[in-house]
Amino acid sequence: MKIYNFEDDPLAAVPNVDEQYMMEALKLAKRAAEEDEIPIGAIVVANGKIIGKGYNLTEKLNDVTAHAEMQAFTAAANFLGGKYLRDCTLYVTIEPCVMCAGASYWTQISKIVYGAKDIKRGYSVIQDKIIHPKTTIVSGVLEKECAELMTSFFRQKR
Ligand SMILES: [Zn+2]
Repeated sequence: MKIYNFEDDPLAAVPNVDEQYMMEALKLAKRAAEEDEIPIGAIVVANGKIIGKGYNLTEKLNDVTAHAEMQAFTAAANFLGGKYLRDCTLYVTIEPCVMCAGASYWTQISKIVYGAKDIKRGYSVIQDKIIHPKTTIVSGVLEKECAELMTSFFRQKR
């Protein structure tokens, strides 16, 4: 199955698997922005299938814990019928905060792929050991796109 058609532009690079899933997370981040939420999107993937989706809902739910990752973890656990997300990958547009990194620890997720670093609230700034030792981290996937969405959102707010 062909997902992207770049035949019109032979110079355009075909996105790799991580970039393809990050594009899905970016769609959710854009939806958050449309709903006036901080534009962060997340998905959980297992066996090449998206089993959980989420975007920031802290304003709508009046809940500081309603981060994109938390929504995606809950949706994925419901889908699997179990709390552990072993053999799953989290794709999130912005580096998880300490709370979401902590939640990811409890899920024992295999891999976390994020777009742009959060230099103020990202878990790695504060506490690097919060990630489960079995979790692989990949960062910088579609970094520019993920960061730009945040920058333009906060530019509009000021
Ligand atoms: Zn978070």
